[in-house]
Amino acid sequence: MHKILLAALLSSASATSAFAQDAKPASDATIAAQRSVGTQLPADDGRDLDFADRGFIGTLSDPVITNKDGKPVWNLGAYDWMTGGQSPDTVNPSLWRHMGLLRKHGLYALTDNVWQVRGFDVSNMTVIKGQTGWIIIDPLTSRDTAAAALKLVNEKLGTRPVTAVIYSHSHGDHFGGVRGIINEADVKAGKVSVIAPEHFLAETASENVMAGPAMSRRATFQFGSNLTPGPQGQMGSGIGNGIGGGDITLIPPTIDIRKTGELREVDGVMLEFQMVPHTEAPAEMNVYLPAARTFLSAEIATCSLHNILTPRGAKVRDALSWSVFLNEAVNLYGGRSDVIASSHCWPRFGQSEVKGWLAGQRDNYRYLHDQTVRMMNKGMTQAEIAEVLKAPPTIGDQWFNKGYYGTYSHNSKAIYQYYLGWYDAVPANLNPHSPEVRAAKMVAAMGGAKKVLAEARKAMKAGDYRWSSDLLNQLVFAEPKNVEGRALLADSYEQQGYQSESAIWRNMFLTGARELRAGMKAGINAQSIDMISAIPTGLLLDSVSTRLDPNVIGNAALALNFVISDRKETAKVTVGNSVMFSEMGQVHAAPKVTVTGPRQLFLALLFLKMPAAQLQAAGLKIEGDRAAIEKLQAALDPMPGAFNIVEP
Ligand SMILES: [Zn+2]
Repeated sequence: MHKILLAALLSSASATSAFAQDAKPASDATIAAQRSVGTQLPADDGRDLDFADRGFIGTLSDPVITNKDGKPVWNLGAYDWMTGGQSPDTVNPSLWRHMGLLRKHGLYALTDNVWQVRGFDVSNMTVIKGQTGWIIIDPLTSRDTAAAALKLVNEKLGTRPVTAVIYSHSHGDHFGGVRGIINEADVKAGKVSVIAPEHFLAETASENVMAGPAMSRRATFQFGSNLTPGPQGQMGSGIGNGIGGGDITLIPPTIDIRKTGELREVDGVMLEFQMVPHTEAPAEMNVYLPAARTFLSAEIATCSLHNILTPRGAKVRDALSWSVFLNEAVNLYGGRSDVIASSHCWPRFGQSEVKGWLAGQRDNYRYLHDQTVRMMNKGMTQAEIAEVLKAPPTIGDQWFNKGYYGTYSHNSKAIYQYYLGWYDAVPANLNPHSPEVRAAKMVAAMGGAKKVLAEARKAMKAGDYRWSSDLLNQLVFAEPKNVEGRALLADSYEQQGYQSESAIWRNMFLTGARELRAGMKAGINAQSIDMISAIPTGLLLDSVSTRLDPNVIGNAALALNFVISDRKETAKVTVGNSVMFSEMGQVHAAPKVTVTGPRQLFLALLFLKMPAAQLQAAGLKIEGDRAAIEKLQAALDPMPGAFNIVEP
């Protein structure tokens, strides 16, 4: 049952195109661009390398982490081919330096009683020595990488039980591996506490379930999960390597943290919390360890400028709050911390480093925010602001403020969106033709495909890949089968990828090129059964509503009661006007049908669309008009799979 549902939830579309092409070397224009970047980089004083290496204890001898079926889910040695030295022409020199630091992996000591496992996933696992066991902050993305990380900890530091898990925030790479390090029975028995910021579960649901299918597909581009690490391939993701392929799991929190300054003794260790909601995640908190004089900055301060709006898609974040909370962190913890570490990247040591890191990033987000708004209020639009807004050298020359993950370009657009939305107020942009129609008209207006190809080649020769990609994208949307257009667009994207300082820009361009050449491939899956089972029923039913096809349901009016027996929940479900409403804790007085059973059978009914009769045999009770539930079921879209991005 679990397996079937998981398979259905995994997007699995694939296609191969009629032609294949290999990756190209860097063009002359790209080589020139990389050299120019190289000459403008700030001096490297070696501090980052020192911090990234400091406290190293050891790592696994076998670099490949596998799941229970023996399938590899993570390779610690994926970037071993990077042996230092000059960056290749196909990699931005700034990104090359960054990835050289980020690729390190193993168990590292932060202070006497605090360690981190780094490089075992896109995120870090932080380990605190409690009185009787380990307190773990952020158990990575998958059960397999988390289990491997804990194994290393126990091997090197002595085996101890895990007594508490803390989720710093509501993103999958900070909770997904929880079942690799604890089991739910121990949580239920009160032996292990699971601590999270308030609203953790609701925000996890909102981000991963409601928009899950679209976001997963887009995340495949952002993280380059179908690219191979290499000088012409994936170069990490800016704040880590990539996203692994293991099982995402979730055990709901047992303790909510609500207040900044809240003190809590966990397994004999005093912890202090700083709430930082609506920064990097809608539910997020930092953890301060007074005895260890260590500040754990979750994901609001890392080794890179972060995303105000992550390109995979999310609710836009609040850049102003972000800088205000960083300032609060400087004030509350800057003066009493000797070590700072986050759930990504390497830590920093020394009180002035802690303060400098927090204050430097505070100013970066504040500058981005204030200057975007300043320009916006003068009438500049997203594209215009993104074109000119650059960090001043005092901010931008700090390595940790560079755009390996978020960029000034897409972050300024996000801030504009936060305040004003997508519309730039130019009426021509209010209601243009759809992309395909517009592309066809554009190509015709430019004199046809041949002319567009010639112009694109000219632009590429001049190194203007922004323009060649723009032109060729019109051609591919007008004529998706134009072999030459696709091949050239792939080449054009590829050079843009090679030149990008941002690892995720590189991933998005190179994945675009890959799909034009080789077709679509299934990628990241941000959802899992385990996560779905931890999601409140009301939120799941709201996501079912978003799959209602009005062409099938028409004007049908349905009154249904759902009784979810294993959770002692009821839902009053009303369908009318092509809308489905679910009200938890309510019932219709005179329903057309009442469906009773454990939630798993409802998931099978509504997500898998298994026949009602079959589910009745499995124990689902249907009282009243079975046709009513079948009508609703028939009107639900199947779980969506992959969709085209670089072509119509
Ligand atoms: Zn993260």
